[in-house]
Amino acid sequence: MSSDRPTAVVTGASSGIGAATARRLGAAGFHVVLGARRVERCAAIAEEIDGTALPLDVTDPDSVRAFGEAVDGARVLVNNAGGAKGLASVEHADEQEWRWMWETNVVGTLRITQAFLPKLRASGDGHVITVTSIAAQDFYDNGAGYTGAKHAQAMLHRTLRGELLGEPIRVTEILPGMVETEFSEVRFDGDTEKAAAVYAGLTPLTADDVAETIVFAATRPSHVNLDQIVLKPRDQASGTRRHRRT
Ligand code: NAP
Repeated sequence: MSSDRPTAVVTGASSGIGAATARRLGAAGFHVVLGARRVERCAAIAEEIDGTALPLDVTDPDSVRAFGEAVDGARVLVNNAGGAKGLASVEHADEQEWRWMWETNVVGTLRITQAFLPKLRASGDGHVITVTSIAAQDFYDNGAGYTGAKHAQAMLHRTLRGELLGEPIRVTEILPGMVETEFSEVRFDGDTEKAAAVYAGLTPLTADDVAETIVFAATRPSHVNLDQIVLKPRDQASGTRRHRRT
């Protein structure tokens, strides 16, 4: 894999924020490497933007190793793969759903970051961008599995900022509020009615709104580090306060 363009790696690029970010990074002049389990979806986007699609399961160490080895160099890493499963009280939480959230959002981000830090460093101008969530700032009833995982992912990411100080690697955390993607369908195990109700009566962010913000951070001059960017719909004040028009 070789290209004259700088390389940007996007995990979870098969849908939602990751897919939109891949498209916007491609338009901004990057050679984009798209990774996800549904690699055929990544391949269709890669064709549009002259990028590269590779299979990736961030919960599988062998898959992450093969993905890392297939990419020669990288200037930008977007840690985006993640999501939520279920909405249950602590008393009734499903251990398997917690494991999925921790494996995907937290350990997955650790594995991918470890695989790419040497390449980002070698580029002389690296950038780690991690999509956490306002769930990394807040907590809400029935959400401990997701808010806990996003807090842990954010701790990993924010710790990097200090550990990489003095190195040519920028570190940016993106904290979106409600974005209409496949997120709620995944959370509610394919229940599209339940998923649609999440966004009823309000105007959520689009995946492209978030992608535009990610690419803004990635295209600032090298000495400018946007540490954290929180973006929410105007209709959402916090993880629990929303305005719905009836
Ligand atoms: P989405 O449309 O469901 O996209 C999630 C992406 O993650 C998919 O491309 C999926 O790809 C990928 N993924 C899931 N498990 C994976 C695994 N084991 N290995 C590799 N890729 C995996 O949801 P989204 O809203 O765009 O979510 C993107 C990120 O934004 C997530 O980290 C999410 O927590 C965060 N976020 C979302 C919202 C929101 O309201 N939507 C708000 C704040 C933060 P495959 O299934 O093909 O593997």
